[in-house]
Order: sequence, then C-alpha cells, then structure tokens
Amino acid sequence: MDSDASTVAPILAGLRCKCPRCGRGDLFTGYLTVAQRCSVCGLELARGDSGDGPAVFLIFILGFIIVPIALMVSMRVDWPLWLTGLVWGVVILGGTLGLLRPAKGVVFALQYRYRRAEFEGPDDSDSDRTPGA
Ligand SMILES: [Zn+2]
Repeated sequence: MDSDASTVAPILAGLRCKCPRCGRGDLFTGYLTVAQRCSVCGLELARGDSGDGPAVFLIFILGFIIVPIALMVSMRVDWPLWLTGLVWGVVILGGTLGLLRPAKGVVFALQYRYRRAEFEGPDDSDSDRTPGA
C-alpha cells in the first residue's frame, strides 16, 4: 500500500493512537509500547522514537492547568492536608496516565509527518548489509 499521509490528520491519528500513515492500524501493542509495524499498511513503527517529548509536554500542560485550580480550591475549601494530597494526587496521576498515551501518539504522528525519512529510510536494523557495497 502506498503512503497516503496527505489524508491522515496527524493530530487525530495520534489522539486515537492509530498509525500516522494510514490512520487505521494500532500504534501501540501495550500501554506505551509502540508496535513493530502497522498491521494495516506495514509502516515500520518501531523506527520512530518520541523520547521524553510526550512526558515533558504533559508536565507543562498539566502543571499549567492543575496548579492554579489546586490553589484556588485550597483558598476556598478548608480540607485537611491528607485529603488535599489524596485528591490532587489522584487528579495528577489520573491526568498523567490518561493523557500520556494520546500525547505519545500525537508526538509520534508529528514526527512521522515532519521527519518521515526516519520511518522510510533504508533499514539498518537488519544485519544483512554487505560491507563495501
Ligand atoms: Zn498504517
């Protein structure tokens, strides 16, 4: 199947955790484990690497959203310290774990969109290259 990236919106494919090329195959095999290749179009997904980018984005975005809300709530409601820690701990952990997978999908899809050569270049993971050829 030929590349059809022009019809796949990278943000939507990433948020749905689907292949950045065809938008149909699953991007992950586990919670954050990227599949070796797309089951629909055969794109070698394992060549992409989003690194720490998704986690850094989430730190800034969730911090920007949750910290002011937590401060406003703590100024208006007199919760005991243990309840404050419990509530915001659950909110932060839930937000992080819930958004990390789509964030990684979006970063991965944007990498495919703007640095496609990493995905479609010569395969250097195989050891059958002939030296000096
Ligand atoms: Zn695909």
